[in-house]
Amino acid sequence: MKIAVIGTGYVGLVSGTCFAEWGNEVICVDKNVEKIMQLSKGRIPIYEPGLETLVARNQKAGRLSFTTNLSEAVRNVDVVLIAVGTPPRAGHGDADLSFVHMAAKEIAHALSGPAVVVVKSTVPVGTCDAVQKIIDAVRPAGDVSVASNPEFLREGSAIDDFLFPDRVVIGVEDERTEAVMAALYEPFSDGSTPVVMTKRRSAELIKYASNAFLATKIMFINELADLCERVGTDVSELALGVGLDHRIGRAFLNAGPGYGGSCFPKDTLALLRTAQDFGVTLRIVEETVSSNEARKRKMALKVVDAIGGDVDGLTIAVLGLTFKPDTDDMRDAPSVSLIETLQRFGATVRAHDPVGMSNASRILENVAFFEDPYECVRDADAIVVVTEWESIRQLDLVRLKSLVRSSNLIDLRNAFARGAARAAGFSVSSIGRPSEP
Ligand code: NAD
Repeated sequence: MKIAVIGTGYVGLVSGTCFAEWGNEVICVDKNVEKIMQLSKGRIPIYEPGLETLVARNQKAGRLSFTTNLSEAVRNVDVVLIAVGTPPRAGHGDADLSFVHMAAKEIAHALSGPAVVVVKSTVPVGTCDAVQKIIDAVRPAGDVSVASNPEFLREGSAIDDFLFPDRVVIGVEDERTEAVMAALYEPFSDGSTPVVMTKRRSAELIKYASNAFLATKIMFINELADLCERVGTDVSELALGVGLDHRIGRAFLNAGPGYGGSCFPKDTLALLRTAQDFGVTLRIVEETVSSNEARKRKMALKVVDAIGGDVDGLTIAVLGLTFKPDTDDMRDAPSVSLIETLQRFGATVRAHDPVGMSNASRILENVAFFEDPYECVRDADAIVVVTEWESIRQLDLVRLKSLVRSSNLIDLRNAFARGAARAAGFSVSSIGRPSEP
């Protein structure tokens, strides 16, 4: 098939590359000239394990190319994927659909024949209907149909998630579109992966419901972590004991500083706005959102308490900045609100992250960044672990202890074995574990 992908972010670039890997001819489009220049030279503008090799292989095979020219890219394709951002609208919380609508208009004007426009971006219920209207207004012939195909990949394991997903969800309104979408996902026609073929609105809502459920699961274990601290039990054991029940599952039961990233915070809010618009109360999702907000504030206080109640004039070394390991994505990362709060309390913050520092430096002010984690902690009054990168887990605790000025280790991800940290001389404050004797 000939496919154009609009937007070369985490979703567009990974999906476009994987569709090329399946033998399709794919052209990826972005308005960002710098990104396209980099990609054309084989340089990947985001950090995603395995992506560079896959892009190079498909570029070399002539199946994958990049352009800023949307009109030329979509002219003769069978399928156009919209994978542009849908960030929260400032001050409102609902999804900003302006990028989706703009892309739809441009596509409608540029298409020369029948095609299916696939909305891969995460969009509220009814968006695909609106995109269909935008296209029909420009092309009354009715030869372009819109499908919903939300993406479930996770940054950090995006390629595997795309090539071997738990399921594919497709929303269509007619049989012709269904046939095109089935052909697009032909590798799964052998039944290896469930393909949920449904209506557009169902597909749109499935995506939000999935993210809201996962966010709720995270906040469930986080709240229980608080209880564990009080009653003197360990949340890791609790999560294991609970999660081994197949009806519950072990995933997303890792207690921590609250969820962040470019999806859960914005998608839970957008779902609440949709519910409001339709006069429905989603009380559990509301609680999840407010519990997460409260947790972010609480984490800063946890750090302050662990250090003795006052961080004014102290230096704090933060290890890990991205919202989770194996990504460079800093959008809504818990580290940001934590660092900003500590700075407001008068602390000086130094930070290390294996790949996120470039993005972090665009968001955070007055933070000294260190490539070397050991240099980062030198003479600090406390170490705070915010992201559990494997490289951070592997740090030599004895060496870290020899460099810091005090013994405060606040491990918001339970990244270090507490016994080992204590043996190295640290006084450890962790999540969901009884406080030290
Ligand atoms: P992103 O911000 O990384 O990338 C979006 C890209 O679209 C940018 O490069 C931007 O320049 C480009 N763009 C915007 N308008 C354009 C236009 N008219 N023409 C050409 N390019 C245009 O976004 P992302 O993280 O890839 O997310 C995209 C969508 O997928 C969002 O709706 C998001 O919620 C959803 N999603 C993201 C993830 C994830 O892990 N990042 C997972 C599942 C779903």
